[in-house]
Amino acid sequence: MSGPDPETKMQFLYSVRSRGVTDQKVLEAIEEIDRGLFVRGIFSQRAYEDVPLPIACGQTISQPSVVGMMTQALQLSQRDTVLEVGTGSGYQAAILSKLARRVYTIDRHARLVREARSVFDRLRLANVTSLVGDGSHGLPDQAPFDRIIVTAAAEDPPGPLLAQLKTGGIMVLPVGQSDHVQTLIRVRKTEDGLEYDELRPVRFVPLLEGLGKDS
Ligand code: SAM
Repeated sequence: MSGPDPETKMQFLYSVRSRGVTDQKVLEAIEEIDRGLFVRGIFSQRAYEDVPLPIACGQTISQPSVVGMMTQALQLSQRDTVLEVGTGSGYQAAILSKLARRVYTIDRHARLVREARSVFDRLRLANVTSLVGDGSHGLPDQAPFDRIIVTAAAEDPPGPLLAQLKTGGIMVLPVGQSDHVQTLIRVRKTEDGLEYDELRPVRFVPLLEGLGKDS
């Protein structure tokens, strides 16, 4: 991370750690990727607070400790190919890029994908591919995936995403009614079927169908 002064950086990492992010590699990725690059306008001065912040298209960049928790729950290895549904600012994808072999990230808003892509280029994140589309259908051409992360809330895990997860794979996503507190869950796909873990309460914007208006 190059942006914040050392004191701000220390407090930022402390707040992420104190909310349950303990995986050293995940913490190192959070330290390395400057969240300030993903937040624009007046909100950029709050980039190093552990809060979600508004971004373009009425969307949000997630709370850093939630980004850390979700990344940790994926139990990534450097061999993994990951699908992220909900690029938003691109911050979560950039963190994933440090811990996985290849990251595909998709958002229904073309403007968000364009802006995220410019930060990926600036950071030279060559293993991230960003696409515009309705991610609830997954990315059949690139499937199956070792890991899938959804950063918008659905009532249930979308069937196409479950189908595109490898056996032995892990998917992490918020589920529940939109505008209510949802539950972050982890789904493991085993030879015997799907296993579900409830991780913590969260609040995400909804997973919507189709493309955003600017697309
Ligand atoms: N991961 C993001 C980040 O690091 O900034 C935060 C994502 S934001 C909470 C949720 C995103 O999901 C929004 O950008 C929204 O446009 C996107 N989204 C909602 N429904 C979608 C869908 N069906 N397909 C793709 N993206 C979707």
